[in-house]
Amino acid sequence: MTRAWVEVDLGALRRNGAVMAARANALLPMIKADGYGIGAIAAARALEPLAPWGFGVATVDEGRELRNAGVERPIVVFTPLLRVELASARDLGLTPALGTAQQIAAWSACGGGAWHLAIDTGMHRAGVRWDAMHEIRSLLEDAPPTGAFTHFHSAERDDGSLQEQEGRFEDALACLPSRPPLVHAENSAALARTRRSRWSLGRPGVFLYGVGSGDGALVQPEPVVRLCARIAELRTVREGETVSYGATYRARGERRIATLPLGYADGYRRALGNRGQALVGGRLARVAGIVTMDMTMIDVTGVECAVGDVVTLIGRDGEHELSVEAVANAGELSPYELLTGLRARLPRRYVDPA
Ligand SMILES: *Cc1c(COP(=O)(O)O)cnc(C)c1O
Repeated sequence: MTRAWVEVDLGALRRNGAVMAARANALLPMIKADGYGIGAIAAARALEPLAPWGFGVATVDEGRELRNAGVERPIVVFTPLLRVELASARDLGLTPALGTAQQIAAWSACGGGAWHLAIDTGMHRAGVRWDAMHEIRSLLEDAPPTGAFTHFHSAERDDGSLQEQEGRFEDALACLPSRPPLVHAENSAALARTRRSRWSLGRPGVFLYGVGSGDGALVQPEPVVRLCARIAELRTVREGETVSYGATYRARGERRIATLPLGYADGYRRALGNRGQALVGGRLARVAGIVTMDMTMIDVTGVECAVGDVVTLIGRDGEHELSVEAVANAGELSPYELLTGLRARLPRRYVDPA
């Protein structure tokens, strides 16, 4: 009997992948940051039946983990690599995203194979500027990239920036000595807003893990993640008594308080103190007081429950759902931060293992 855990519905993850695959010409699922916290290897295996072109990660270590688990498809490493990492990337058969003349020259010099050119069309995070392609053009004649891509900064906003970035991307591609076989741009929000991609690969991330991308989206994902904990103690507090550090919760009348054995060291964030909600036997209960490192208290007054009962902090229970977005909103967090912040101390339990 585990005190707290993350339940992952791999069937839902695969179905979300199929929704993205139906809009993309081929799939390059992003399984960086340990598959947004749900487990990169489990995510890769669950998506395998969709025959993705390859997988996207952020670091060489993430690529190594997948190679060690037997993943043979291309693995693109999207965060710029330091020079000292290039040899390991080459030995593991990883495909780096390169975006400066130095990186491209160093990758060639170390005998690296396939690589993708990162083109900065407005994110200003990594890659060669769309209007500075001349800086690398001659290098590309000797070592042409197998792919080229850009990344949208506000695809969920419908503010015209995506179209502007796509235009810049096209301009940059036209400056290349030859158009690479693989060109890609869309993240989840962009794919969820298109019926059919014009690019060769789509790079969905968060949608796969059950997080939607706002009102303009044509499709919504199924929930994938459930965060659960068991009630460890139950107590009655009296009128005027307070709960947790800083005494921020004060009982108005007699209240019933349940203690859950998880806290911000598990990734149930401190920002959810007095704001988060939990589902107990299908009924809503509020977080009472500050979330502590290892314990969180909820107000279960009038809710039938007992020590050992399972409480849902993210996910569905009965008619109610606490979506990742709703929980994140309650704490003024980004859903990405909440998901990737669920820590290794919480065991992952996979439902419908692929
Ligand atoms: C993380 C990432 C994605 C996926 O973004 P989502 O918003 O999670 O779909 C796509 N491309 C790049 C380069 C990324 O870093």
